[in-house]
Amino acid sequence: MSIYFDNSATTRPLPQVVDAMVKAMTDGFYNPSAAYSPAFHAEKEIKLARERIASHLGIHHDGVVFTSCGTEADQLAIYGLLGSIHHPGKILYSSVEHPAIKNNCIEAARRFGTKAEEIPVTMEGYVDLEKLEQMLSQDTSLICVMQVNNESGAIQPLEQISRMRDRICPQAFLHVDGVQGFLRVPINLKKTGIATYALSAHKIGGPKGAGALAIADGIRVRPQLLGGGQENGMRSGTENTPGIAGLSAAVEGYQAYEKGNESMRRVKFALLNALADLPIHVNGPLPEEAAAHILNISLPPVRSETMLHALEGAGIYVSMGSACAAHKQKISTVLQSMNVEKKYAESALRFSFCPDNTVEEALQAAMVIHTQYELLKKYQRR
Ligand code: PLP
Repeated sequence: MSIYFDNSATTRPLPQVVDAMVKAMTDGFYNPSAAYSPAFHAEKEIKLARERIASHLGIHHDGVVFTSCGTEADQLAIYGLLGSIHHPGKILYSSVEHPAIKNNCIEAARRFGTKAEEIPVTMEGYVDLEKLEQMLSQDTSLICVMQVNNESGAIQPLEQISRMRDRICPQAFLHVDGVQGFLRVPINLKKTGIATYALSAHKIGGPKGAGALAIADGIRVRPQLLGGGQENGMRSGTENTPGIAGLSAAVEGYQAYEKGNESMRRVKFALLNALADLPIHVNGPLPEEAAAHILNISLPPVRSETMLHALEGAGIYVSMGSACAAHKQKISTVLQSMNVEKKYAESALRFSFCPDNTVEEALQAAMVIHTQYELLKKYQRR
C-alpha cells in the first residue's frame, strides 16, 4: 500500500464525488439550459452547488461563477476586476503567489498599461506588512494575496492587509487565491473586505478541471469568456455538469475546518515528532502556526530530489514544492523569496495531508526517512 502525502498537488477524489459525477454523466446528462424538466433538474444541481460554496464564504450564491480550474478563477478575477474600472493603476501581488497569479498579474499590467510589483515576504513566508504599507498608494488598483501558501503553509494576514488597504487606498480590490485554504481555513469575504476568491475542486477531494470564482456582493467583474451567457453571463460555455456535481459533492463531503484540521494536525505532528532526532529544519512558519495540511522540512545534506525518489521507492509520495514547478527548476522560487538558506532550499520536501491520512502512515514514513537519511547523508555533493 502506498502512502500519499502530496495532497496540495491534488487529492484522491472522494467516493461520493465519483458517484455524483457518474450520475451527472448518466441520468443527468442534459444541457442545463434546455427547456424540459430533466434539464431543470441539472440546473437545480448547479444552483445547489453554488449555494453550498457561497455558504462557506458569506456571499450570495449568485456570486459563485464556475470555472475550469483554480487558474481560470484567478485569471477571471485579475482581468475581470481591472476590466471593470477606467485606467487601472498599480497591481501588487505577494512574491510567494502561485504562477496562476504571478503570470496573470504581469500580463495584465502589460495589457492595461500599468505596473505589477511583488510584495516581499518575511523569512516565515508571511507578507511583509511594513513593506506593503510603503508600496500601497492612491494609484493601487489590485492587491493579490493568497490565503494559504501551497509550499510553506503560511496563512496570510488577510484581515490586516484589508484594513491597511481601507486606510491607504480603499479603491483597491483585494483578490485572494483560496485554492489551498478553502474548507481548511474559515473565511468570510464580506467581513474581510475581499472582492474575489478563487477555489479549485481537486484540492478538496473533487475532480480536476473544476473550480470557481466567488465574487463578493456588490463587486463587478468583467466577463472574460463571452458566448451564450451561461453563469449569469459571467462565464459562457455549456456548464461542466459532472465537474460541478463533483465539486458540489466535495464541498459537502470534505471534512472541513476543525474536524479535518484536527486529524491532519495529528498526522503532521506525529511525523515531526518521529523525526525529532534527525537534524530537520522547518521551512516557513512554526508548524503549529501553519495550515494544518502542509509541512515543509529540509534534511541537509540530502537533496530534495534524492530523498523524494528514495521515498517513492518505498511507496511514499511527497513533493519538492509546487507540483507545477517540479519539472522546471531545482530550487523553489517560494523558498527563495523567503530567503531560505541554500542548503535548506536544496533539500526541502513538502508533505501535504488530507483528512484521511493516518498517524500510522506518518510513523511508517518517518521510519523510511530515518533509514534513507542514514544511507544517503554519506553521499553529499562537494
Ligand atoms: N493556486 C494555488 C495556491 C495552487 O496551489 C494551485 C494548484 O496547485 C492553483 C492556484 C491552480 O489551481 P488549478 O490546478 O485548479 O488550476
